[in-house]
Amino acid sequence: MSKKKEITKAKLDFKTDWAYAPAPEDSGHISLKKQYDLFINGEFVKPNSKKYFATYNPATEQKIAEIAEADEKDVDKAVKAARKAFEKWSKLSGKERGKYIFRIARLMQERAREFAVIETMDGGKSIRESRDIDVPLAANHFFYNAGWADKLEYAFPNRNPKPLGVVGQIIPWNFPLLMAAWKIAPALAAGNTVVLKPAETTSLTALKLAELIRDSGLPNGVVNIVTGAGKTGAAIVNHPDINKIAFTGSTDVGKLIQRSISGTNKKLTLELGGKAANIIFADAAIDQAVEGIVNGIFFNQGHVCCAGSRLFVQESVADIVIRKLKDRMETLIVGDPMDKNTDIGAINSKEQLLKINEYIKIGKNEGAEIYQSSCAIPSKGNFCRPTLFLDASQSHRIVQEEIFGPVLTVQTFRTIEEVIEKANNIPYGLSAGVWTDKGSKIFNLTNKLRAGVVWANTYNKFDPASPFGGYKESGFGREGGLHGLMPYLNL
Ligand code: NAP
Ligand code: MG
Repeated sequence: MSKKKEITKAKLDFKTDWAYAPAPEDSGHISLKKQYDLFINGEFVKPNSKKYFATYNPATEQKIAEIAEADEKDVDKAVKAARKAFEKWSKLSGKERGKYIFRIARLMQERAREFAVIETMDGGKSIRESRDIDVPLAANHFFYNAGWADKLEYAFPNRNPKPLGVVGQIIPWNFPLLMAAWKIAPALAAGNTVVLKPAETTSLTALKLAELIRDSGLPNGVVNIVTGAGKTGAAIVNHPDINKIAFTGSTDVGKLIQRSISGTNKKLTLELGGKAANIIFADAAIDQAVEGIVNGIFFNQGHVCCAGSRLFVQESVADIVIRKLKDRMETLIVGDPMDKNTDIGAINSKEQLLKINEYIKIGKNEGAEIYQSSCAIPSKGNFCRPTLFLDASQSHRIVQEEIFGPVLTVQTFRTIEEVIEKANNIPYGLSAGVWTDKGSKIFNLTNKLRAGVVWANTYNKFDPASPFGGYKESGFGREGGLHGLMPYLNL
């Protein structure tokens, strides 16, 4: 708390169309420190190693701030604080816990503009998405779970719901604040205490959340936020006094975590990668479906685990769908994430941009026909044009592997049996989309697609009340809704 120096004071231009709960005391100022410490036991403390790493704005490549790197000793300190806090927190009545969680939700709404701007600066997503989706949804997760805190006995009748203890939570960089909310809100509502690690490239909104939590008066040690890279995450996973690990990230790291906790008593939920089929039938409303394809793959630069990254179009409408899709792609604006007209912001990191470009090369070598929108992209920063691979086939790596960028593969199909088989023939099983005028087809498909979430005539719709999670290599356990509380309770 020593260096309270503000390095950025941005006046924003979207005051008038601010859609979500503008607060009277929202100053419109963005307060950022030059250096961020670890949030342990209700205060910001220096890391044991005294090491800091830089976080950058991926659109400008400018350094924003320095972030503390937590080692095993710091993680141990955080777990001890959480263990001590658990004694009191778990004994509070659900009604009291709920009051604290409601307060966090309210404070987040009041500071929504600041959260949105920092999310966009640090991660590269368009300000429209941070403002209209990430931040309001994050607040909604706290509201929703606050409501359950005093109703757990009714939600799980005759099952004597009890919290697990100290939970370790590790989150990725694609929805930094939202993933923190998905994790922290149900854990607290269930009576657990938390040690959370955000991703290395996007720690800032989690640290702003730490400030907000401190201001909310939540008892010290109930939420601890430790920053760092993979090693810090591993220290949480391997700490002997953690009762549960909740991880969202890549399938590779998920497998590693599962291996390293096997043989312990730790509980585990894994939300991993995806490669969703977005299926367009000939009887679909074509223009709506094209909007759904665009939203499915280009939302958040395609850095979305449930992105509709494999398009299946019924052969008889393939030509018209692809023509309309190309036309629509030409209208997408790629560029400055802080401009509210921007549709596709910056790729989160240099590393991720390299990975996407590598897959684009692989796709070309595999023989699929590439189409990229002709839009201008900034010469500086990490940007990628929206990209299609036409005539992709099931055996292509670009069809089988998660790219996590604005790249869509296109395949055609004739019959419903064929598309079900192709959609399921993949290691992942997180989500899918179906576009058709026929309800019977929707019901038929939703039962046969091996995916945790299936959207019908819409895509990428999220709500705190609906459970989210995968099958197969997309992980196990659910987040959101009542199902999302279960992994935080002994029932
Ligand atoms: P990642 O590399 O697996 O990282 C996820 C988190 O784990 C980060 O905080 C990371 O730290 C940390 N980590 C890395 N190595 C670790 C280790 N050995 N032990 C413990 N923690 C470790 O994934 P990402 O690249 O950040 O995120 C993209 C992936 O997440 C995609 O595959 C995407 O599909 C998936 N995802 C899934 C969902 C879902 O709900 N199913 C939601 C969002 C994203 P550092 O980043 O600091 O190294
Ligand atoms: Mg950054």
